[in-house]
Amino acid sequence: MRLGDLEFWLLTDGTFGLDGGAMFGVIPRPMWERVAPPDERNRIRLSMNSLLIHTAGKWILVETGAGDKWDAKSEEIYAFSGERLPDKLSARGTPPDVIDIVVNTHLHFDHCGWNTRRAGDAIVPTFSNAQYIVQRGELDHARRPTERDRASYIADNFLPIEKSGQWMLLEGDREIVPGVELIRAPGHNADMQCVRLSGGGKTAFFFADLVPTAAHLGYPWIMGYDLYPLTTLENKKKWIPLAARERWLVLFGHEPKTPAGYLHEEKGKFVLEPIKLDG
Ligand SMILES: [Zn+2]
Repeated sequence: MRLGDLEFWLLTDGTFGLDGGAMFGVIPRPMWERVAPPDERNRIRLSMNSLLIHTAGKWILVETGAGDKWDAKSEEIYAFSGERLPDKLSARGTPPDVIDIVVNTHLHFDHCGWNTRRAGDAIVPTFSNAQYIVQRGELDHARRPTERDRASYIADNFLPIEKSGQWMLLEGDREIVPGVELIRAPGHNADMQCVRLSGGGKTAFFFADLVPTAAHLGYPWIMGYDLYPLTTLENKKKWIPLAARERWLVLFGHEPKTPAGYLHEEKGKFVLEPIKLDG
């Protein structure tokens, strides 16, 4: 997809499964199971969506999936499947070492797994030449999560980046290169950021976990994982109508079937008109 001089592609790190109840918070199962049918262990299938962006002579990767530093038990719990992100990057001629900037919207394990990889006994940055970007508050929190969210953080995904000196930490919104803006949008946690791309008079908006799938467009459809659900609600009410009104291309962090499209309002509800992007 092209926005003026900026070009981007949607890639995934494959799919995984999370508990359907936890994914839809206060929404009763008879309602969510129609849009996201669970398996025999109540898991729904989600993808881990990344954006590869080329602009101003730079290669930028937003989100790095779940990676492969998992033991057999966790792999079974999360049911990871599908071709993994570094292989896809290499196959299309942009292997990890050509990436200039890696953006993590936040540091939950399904967004920063390929930040690092195993090399013998060591854990090293996968993107050896990249600057990695996250909000400072998120890295601080990741180091000392609460009992409620500590299962979401794996230190091997972010401490080695500190050791290699590759972090660039933001405090609030920032345009990192012309046309690529990181916008803090708390709710899922205190310092998650969304990504707005613009060029040629067009805009695209990556919701990350503010609206993880198209099924989460309805205002009360908020994940049980969110630390500040009422802040999520406020941010949904800010960004969803704006995206619809201004005809932004919206991109969801975990939507497996319709990851991209345009929004319009229909009887007070926001509806997605999906479009197909090339991988
Ligand atoms: Zn996520």
